[in-house]
Amino acid sequence: MFIPLFALFISFRVDAQPIIADLVNPVEVSNDMRVENMAGKTILVFTPHPDDETFSMGGTLALLAKNGNRIHIIIYTNDNKGSLDLEMTSERLARIRKAEEEKACALLGIAKENIHWLGYEDGDLEYAEPRALRGTIARYIKLYRPDVVFSPDPGATWLQWHKTDHRMAANITNDAFIAAEWHLYYPEHLLVENLEPFNVREFYFYYSQQPNYEVNITSVFEEKMQAALAHVSQFEPSLSRYTPELDPRTAQGVNDRFFQLHLCNDGKCVERFRRVGK
Ligand SMILES: [Zn+2]
Repeated sequence: MFIPLFALFISFRVDAQPIIADLVNPVEVSNDMRVENMAGKTILVFTPHPDDETFSMGGTLALLAKNGNRIHIIIYTNDNKGSLDLEMTSERLARIRKAEEEKACALLGIAKENIHWLGYEDGDLEYAEPRALRGTIARYIKLYRPDVVFSPDPGATWLQWHKTDHRMAANITNDAFIAAEWHLYYPEHLLVENLEPFNVREFYFYYSQQPNYEVNITSVFEEKMQAALAHVSQFEPSLSRYTPELDPRTAQGVNDRFFQLHLCNDGKCVERFRRVGK
């Protein structure tokens, strides 16, 4: 469930999570280490809902997919509450959201087999048992042994206002980095499944209020926009009365808003992250 574009189409309030914030102490990264040039790597992406990663880093995903990286997307919730349609049911919405996410990922070059659904109810992630949830995430890290991980930013100014599932996903993913590194956390992973500890060495936080790194997504901007528009149920008029058809005015509105959100100036559009490397 994606708040800013919701807000845009419901009430024209755009005051929620930062798709793009000002760069703070930008980091210098050599060309061969840049996200735009990554190839043949294993990438794990954690997302609270099926769309947060599309909206915040869809361009980056399209670039990574084009360059032959192995991308796995792990989705915490099934997003089954985000509808204003009084005829909608949670079960039906979960099915709709799954199909929309699979289409969005396909447009970005990611196969549905690489989407992993944890299946928590929308809005309930903070009521999940935290120790078990952290273990689930640590297990994914040990299983796939990613070169790079992307997840929501748990940064200091984040928790004041951010939506519940986002808070939990940000913190649990971050905590799981530590749990994956030390074998005495969840020792059963090694003893039962032979999954050895793993140290994530490079991670990028999206939805950051303190980004220090930007990716040039100009060449895949159109793919990102089409992927975002695949989440039809999250835009009006489908939000209030579900229809699988996308309203052309909505598409135009998203297009215009995306040009602002991605700072499309001088023919260049960007996505921003807080990059942490060990
Ligand atoms: Zn969300």
